[in-house]
Amino acid sequence: MLADLHNHSCLSPCASLEMSPRRLAWEAAAAGIGLLALTDHNSARNTPAFFVACREADIMPLAGLEITTREECHVLALFDDPEDALAMGEWVWEALPAYPLDAERFGDQPVVDKNENIVEMIDRLLTSSIEYVFHEVQHETERRGGLFIPAHINRQAFSVESQLGFLPPGTYDAIEVLAPEAETYQQRYPNIPVITSSDAHLPNQIATQPFCLQTKEGTISAIRKSLRALCSPQ
Ligand SMILES: [Zn+2]
Ligand SMILES: [Zn+2]
Repeated sequence: MLADLHNHSCLSPCASLEMSPRRLAWEAAAAGIGLLALTDHNSARNTPAFFVACREADIMPLAGLEITTREECHVLALFDDPEDALAMGEWVWEALPAYPLDAERFGDQPVVDKNENIVEMIDRLLTSSIEYVFHEVQHETERRGGLFIPAHINRQAFSVESQLGFLPPGTYDAIEVLAPEAETYQQRYPNIPVITSSDAHLPNQIATQPFCLQTKEGTISAIRKSLRALCSPQ
């Protein structure tokens, strides 16, 4: 099936206000996506509405966050259900600087319900880096049973390559790479599953860079196993 594990909703200040969780779910489903994750910056508050929408659209959901580490690396933490993602979100929130949101400059951060009604406006800037470094975020995600995936690692900003200069040695559930270089990276890291994602912030970016995953189940453990099968260990 087609999987797309990195997408934003209106809660991310840099995403369009038209990106309700409901719209994301239905448009991804219409484009043939079978497994879809919502990963707003440093928050999982829109994942409950996202799960309802995915169930209605008959698409398997994952609840996640795109966390900004202290080094300004973006990493994905993905969970089976909103409760787990919200709990991770609490840990992140405690480590997030209390910079007030300048909505004129950065955009609004609405939490919405399944019917696209605004239930809360988050007034702390969500895109700041948290106080924990890369390996601390990895450890916490894995301790909570989540998938840990360094995001767009070959991007020129907010990636492990741009911020650290290299991918720290270790084991990863997957690494996310900007599409044109996916094959090159799979050769460079033969033991790590390489995936692509849409990282959609706008409606016209939905379902543009999914990858193929052989799985019938949408659970973290089944997905982890299926990801392993993407690469052939040497
Ligand atoms: Zn990012
Ligand atoms: Zn993103």
